Amino acid sequence: MTPSSPDRTVTRVVQGQATSDGAGVRLFRVIGGQTLPELDPFLLLDEFVSDDPDDYIGGFPEHPHRGFETVTYMLAGRMRHGDNQGNSGLLQAGSVQWMTAGRGILHSEMPEQENGLMWGFQLWVNLPARSKMMAPRYQDIPPDAIPTVTTPDGNRMKVIAGEYHGASGPVQGIEAEPVYVDIEFKAGARETLALPRAHNAFVYCYQGAVTVSEADPTLVGHRRLAVLSAGERVSLVAGGDGARVIVVAGKPFHEPVARYGPFVMNTREELMQAVDDLRNGRF
Ligand code: MN
Repeated sequence: MTPSSPDRTVTRVVQGQATSDGAGVRLFRVIGGQTLPELDPFLLLDEFVSDDPDDYIGGFPEHPHRGFETVTYMLAGRMRHGDNQGNSGLLQAGSVQWMTAGRGILHSEMPEQENGLMWGFQLWVNLPARSKMMAPRYQDIPPDAIPTVTTPDGNRMKVIAGEYHGASGPVQGIEAEPVYVDIEFKAGARETLALPRAHNAFVYCYQGAVTVSEADPTLVGHRRLAVLSAGERVSLVAGGDGARVIVVAGKPFHEPVARYGPFVMNTREELMQAVDDLRNGRF
């Protein structure tokens, strides 16, 4: 396959690595760890999934962010979000919070349940240099505002960002011009998604298994992420037990990334400024 081929193929398969973050929340880091430090414009992808409260009860107490966006998509459970600007919200199953940290917020993300399943994703999306210091902004999307379409093959697709099967995702006005869909496949069913040609894109399989690309088929199993080549579309076929995947694409910024924990800027000097601003109460 040549780079100009319309069909995207798999350039790399990455496995989520068990780790913990926040106050001892156990999770699987797929982007942002050692195996795949970033996939421009994506800086991090975590899947958190557990029905053992010891794995999540500590939550993510107050911490800062600057220079990028955090996207939380809940599959099950309830998390309470609050920040130092007085914003608060409940992230419940099926909801999405697209938070643009911009010049900075201090927030917490804490479980609002003492038992039961907690399951979801957090994705970090970079901002280009011109927008890193923008005012913070939230898009809090309740479950019923995310269109769910049944595809011709009988799959169920939630369109969080992008346009598919006549449904338009509610997330709007994001610098990376993202695509974010969640597909629950029937056994052996197919789906082909158009994607902006030059966007970086990945498929993350969080249940079952899926074969990616007709031209160069690659089996992508549970908790594996497939990095896609450039191209106009991606073809997916679920395995015999079905599959659940997210497909995410974004416009790469091709800018230098300077990263220090919850700060993602372009230069080391900007990181030092962020640390100084946090210490001196300027968040
Ligand atoms: Mn956070």
